[in-house]
Amino acid sequence: MADLPDIDLSFLTIFLVDLLNTPSPTGNAEPAIAFVEKTLKQFPELTLSRTRKGALVARWQGKENNSPRALTAHVDTLGAMVKEIKSNGRLKLTRIGGLLLNGVEAEGCWVLTASGERVRGSYLFEDASSHVHGAKVNETQRKEENMEVRLDARTTSVDETRALGIQVGDFVVFDPRIEVTEGFVRSRFLDDKACAACVVAVIKSMHEAGLQPNQTTYFHFSNYEEVGHGAAAGIPAEVHELVAVDMAAIGTGQESDEFHVTLCVKDSGGPYHHELSNKLRAIAEQHEIPFKTDIYPHYGSDGEAFWRAGGDVAVALIGPGVDASHNYERTHTEALLATTQWLLAYLLS
Ligand SMILES: [Zn+2]
Repeated sequence: MADLPDIDLSFLTIFLVDLLNTPSPTGNAEPAIAFVEKTLKQFPELTLSRTRKGALVARWQGKENNSPRALTAHVDTLGAMVKEIKSNGRLKLTRIGGLLLNGVEAEGCWVLTASGERVRGSYLFEDASSHVHGAKVNETQRKEENMEVRLDARTTSVDETRALGIQVGDFVVFDPRIEVTEGFVRSRFLDDKACAACVVAVIKSMHEAGLQPNQTTYFHFSNYEEVGHGAAAGIPAEVHELVAVDMAAIGTGQESDEFHVTLCVKDSGGPYHHELSNKLRAIAEQHEIPFKTDIYPHYGSDGEAFWRAGGDVAVALIGPGVDASHNYERTHTEALLATTQWLLAYLLS
């Protein structure tokens, strides 16, 4: 967009890959929060703070301060915890957030022990051998009860696994399996690290162009979104407008795709704020930003978390199309650019 500052796509992509490589399941998202914080420290326009819950908030003084705004994106992701050490030495897991068991079947993982060690393994159906269990391997529904972590360590008993330092409550993180090919970014947990990268790219773009947001703006990086209460705290009471930046849902019957940013006007939590949504639409049209409008059937956002917590603000939701959400996800840099452009145009309006 000629009328918007340049966006550094290579910075955005590298930041995104680094963030994806920083495991951050809900409840243990501090490494990702700290990574974003370290990156934002290079921008002297920002005043950084942490909520007591551990979210990161960056404030940028605007030209005006009579209608402050906030953007929120979350850096916590799906994951799991050790629920039980089984008598065969393997691990039963309990999911964090809406993790799809089929989606992580046969995936590599790390068990993060309380003492800071990492133990490698993979997550499998407990009767995984086709030559032993035959058709059962294919036909059984996957449940937490019939899946297990096979540790890459010599253990066949509870005691041997405990001797590795593993205990109930240890976090388990799955390999993101990132590939950037032909403009596509394929990885787990693009929800919502893709949007966190867009927000950081917005800040960098405005900084390099010597621009300032029109209104004072808070950038909220949430650490508990996947369990429903991330932005319930941390959005200052003076904020008038909150734009949640989170992935758009692609699939049969959906308008969203991997090459556009989407405005979500309704999801499981009901309609978003009509006037703010319309304001964003007008901005997108003015700047010729490729966007879709859509409804997400099984979806909730951190904007709604703040509403439910009593936040008195207008809330809207935008984000890049992400295919196979909460599964092995994929988006395209065109959608990331469109999202970043829209945020830029909004903050400068
Ligand atoms: Zn999300």
